[in-house]
Amino acid sequence: MSSTNNSALFCDLVGTLVKMDGRRQLPLGPNGQVKIELMPRVRETLAPMADNLIFVVTNQADIKRGRLTMAQVECALRELNSTLGGILRDHRICPHEEKDACPCRKPRAAMITELAAIYQIDLKASTMVGDQATDAEAARNAGVGRFIYAHEFFGWNHLSSTR
Ligand SMILES: [Zn+2]
Repeated sequence: MSSTNNSALFCDLVGTLVKMDGRRQLPLGPNGQVKIELMPRVRETLAPMADNLIFVVTNQADIKRGRLTMAQVECALRELNSTLGGILRDHRICPHEEKDACPCRKPRAAMITELAAIYQIDLKASTMVGDQATDAEAARNAGVGRFIYAHEFFGWNHLSSTR
């Protein structure tokens, strides 16, 4: 039995931290590189939380489908972390499709529980942020204490441009 008392913030990637394309996927630029563009208020909201353990957990079936490589997604996450001032501690990427029935694809829990084991995270005391029901389900399946939808967490409801 390990003593775990770190709380963490688990974040979905596409549609939560960064903008998505029309297929709810990472947008590609003209040279085929992933275009990282922050969603509104992400930087401002996360900056005060820099002392916390912040993780990204993302389904990237486009890797399995051949649209993206794992290296491109890793590169995009490095760029994102650099944009956010290096506050992201770690991440997990599921490259599989639903039919692969892997343990990592959200709403399954393995990306979250693996990070929790490595970083001694108290999942009950932790929070997950996402824009999809599968994120909420993944949080529940992993035993994360609290799930908050991205629009609420980042305050998008209060942005005049969304009204
Ligand atoms: Zn997977």
